[in-house]
Amino acid sequence: MTELKEKIARLIEAAGPMSISGYMALCLFDPEHGYYTAREPFGRGGDFITAPEVSQMFGELVAVWLYAAWQACGAPEDAIIAEIGPGRGTLMKDMLRALDRLDRGFAARHVAMIEASPRLAAVQKEMLSGVPAPGAYGRPQWYRRVEDLPEGPLFIVGNELFDALPIHQYVKSAAGWRERVVGVGEDGALAFMAGAGAPDPTLLPPGADAAPESAVFEAAPSREALMETIAGRLAAQGGAGLFIDYGYEGPALGDTLQAVRRHAYDDALAHPGEADLTAHVDFAALARIAGGEGLGAWLMPQGAFLLGLGLLERAGRLGAERSAEEQERIRGEVERLAGPEAMGTLFKVLAVMPRGVAVPPFGGGG
Ligand code: SAH
Repeated sequence: MTELKEKIARLIEAAGPMSISGYMALCLFDPEHGYYTAREPFGRGGDFITAPEVSQMFGELVAVWLYAAWQACGAPEDAIIAEIGPGRGTLMKDMLRALDRLDRGFAARHVAMIEASPRLAAVQKEMLSGVPAPGAYGRPQWYRRVEDLPEGPLFIVGNELFDALPIHQYVKSAAGWRERVVGVGEDGALAFMAGAGAPDPTLLPPGADAAPESAVFEAAPSREALMETIAGRLAAQGGAGLFIDYGYEGPALGDTLQAVRRHAYDDALAHPGEADLTAHVDFAALARIAGGEGLGAWLMPQGAFLLGLGLLERAGRLGAERSAEEQERIRGEVERLAGPEAMGTLFKVLAVMPRGVAVPPFGGGG
């Protein structure tokens, strides 16, 4: 049993079953045993590999997009380049290198890293310490929350951030919809149960009444609150956002709570604090929130996004004059990032910008 599992079982004994949201928050951010607070989850030796860890081309192309968005927004002098939920810091490292190459004069911008885990912030500082700032960027600064950022037009990216924010689940029981909770079963093990609380009926998706018993639906108030904060700020102070995640266009019924440990799916209750815990992102909900703040929102699959920005050309340049082996590795990275069987279709890219501003490969309108 993991130490965190014992702690959770004790909490449940003392205070009763906890919401999925409370469980996720403890698993990911318990100060002592949380997955992001205490472990080194990313990369080949870790539990999973994210797009920036697959290839430097991901960060380079995201930088190309961010630069185009900055230009499309009138190239404001006081822009802030930011990443939220930067993990090991690889994406920002690749972006800064690419931005420097794109435009040496793209100087004196503020670079902001928004990270909730102090341990990961330290990893990121180390990662970015060697990145040259040749008269261009001031050293990056770290923040815990979007609200703490300095003022100014914000150009912000987040990869696999929204899927890490705690969700609530509701389950159809014989008595109707109930909050799904984590309790301790008769055998002493953690178990999913139907709790006492019923959801606000206005939250239920279409078809909820007719759903069979044990159907599950998810609500993500903290994810939506974060999107509201970001979109509100973009609407008030200018800028654009780009968010990439595993997700769908909801609303939909279904249990997407997912644990990954050592590159394999795991039981979500088996190794609290030792497995990554995520839920798929309802992009339609995030786009609606951006729209509510007066912004335009565009969505496309990761593969189409990267190919539209020139992934194949970038791969060709990167592979030029390299060995056949290196070229093969680069081809493999392209396939992983953009292939329909890999991350190309399941991962989606949401762009939010002022209405009327269009940045390829997203079309006009919005
Ligand atoms: N973007 C990285 C890491 C993804 S994991 C990559 O693609 O490899 C999720 C990251 O978001 C972790 O760094 C985690 O600590 C951070 N995080 C989770 N919730 C957060 C929040 N509310 N604010 C800022 N960072 C958060």
